[in-house]
Amino acid sequence: MKILVANIGSTSLKWRLFDFSNPAGQLLHKGGFERVTDYALAISDCLAQIKAAGHIANESDLAGVGFKTVIAKNVSGCVRLDERVLGAMEAYNGLAPAHNPPYLTGIRLFGQRMPGVPLVGLFETAFYQFAPEAMMRYAVPQTWSDIGIRRWGFHGASHKFIAERSAELLGREDVAERVRNLYMDGGKSSVKEPALRVISCHLGGTSSITGIRNGLAIGNSLGMSPQSGLPHNNRVGDLDAEAIPYAVKTLGITLAEAQRQLTKESGLQGLSGLSNDIRDITSAANQGNANAKLALDVFVASARHWIGSYFFEMGGAEAIVFTAGIGENRVELRAAICANLEGLGIELDSALNASTRAAEGFISQAHSRVKLLVIPTNEELVVAREVSRLLRSEVRTQTA
Ligand code: ADP
Repeated sequence: MKILVANIGSTSLKWRLFDFSNPAGQLLHKGGFERVTDYALAISDCLAQIKAAGHIANESDLAGVGFKTVIAKNVSGCVRLDERVLGAMEAYNGLAPAHNPPYLTGIRLFGQRMPGVPLVGLFETAFYQFAPEAMMRYAVPQTWSDIGIRRWGFHGASHKFIAERSAELLGREDVAERVRNLYMDGGKSSVKEPALRVISCHLGGTSSITGIRNGLAIGNSLGMSPQSGLPHNNRVGDLDAEAIPYAVKTLGITLAEAQRQLTKESGLQGLSGLSNDIRDITSAANQGNANAKLALDVFVASARHWIGSYFFEMGGAEAIVFTAGIGENRVELRAAICANLEGLGIELDSALNASTRAAEGFISQAHSRVKLLVIPTNEELVVAREVSRLLRSEVRTQTA
């Protein structure tokens, strides 16, 4: 079973091709184009490269094409991208203006190019479908809520991967199996006692933290848009709702300019005044730059704030997991996030922490009540896996 995953940006097309003869999935090919102006041509060139590499003879050799879609009205999960679902994505273009329109264009072009091949979307909001409503609502009037102003949560592919893999590493095959089947049976498969509580920290260009109880997310630090929660590379995290009207009035800028500054010149970039990359900020901080140090401190304080909130809500945690560019590589930030928490049973092993970069492993002391882990995420593989699960389950349903 060969599955192509297409990552569509406003001017880019990146792809990875996986083979699922074995359920773990194997990467066969990857590539991409930047500065795309003609998507139909980019798709043709992508397919030509995959054929030239000998992976497929024609489009019908693909079992499916998967997309890491962002958000749609009243639709989530891992679903076939038929006209009903595309219409639901279109209805929320306003909530994800940078993501939904290019995806819609790309998906329709794939559909025209290969009418017989299933197109499947794994929505970034999918992992939060089962979260308690109290964790997902803003305290706004019903009319606001009705137009989609609520906490949706994002990074669902990555956090679901962490939910499954952490359960495997912690010896909870029952929970891992529930996570594998989540979008097929809605999380109904039973798990044993005691509960497995995991806090997943996806720290990267965009960062988010999620609490996961028995494989089901209870919330996510990203709210209605990916402009919330922790500070991001150049985008603001949580911000008081009064800040925007106040800045517009006091700085004499337009609303569009305020939005530009909050999405291009804020986050770690805005705090440090130097760079949006933790590597540059850390070297400046090490040379005594106070704003760079402050940027790191704000990031760490925000990470601890969100970890603490899920820790408290779940009454503790069996594990805290770090993933993505910062979570997998930045030893000193993991140490800062876990500092002085012995009273909560969170004890980092500094030697294991220092030696675990871009690799899977435990980084807590052997007696730490809460296990600390690093698990590299791989979002394209997650999409491909979910697509293969969906297509296999459809075959099972048809033959049953
Ligand atoms: P994105 O959300 O754009 O996928 P990443 O997950 O790659 O971003 O995370 C980007 C951040 O992670 C940057 O701040 C970068 O400094 C840090 N990072 C990524 N890779 C490494 C690495 N190999 N060593 C140190 N830091 C890294």
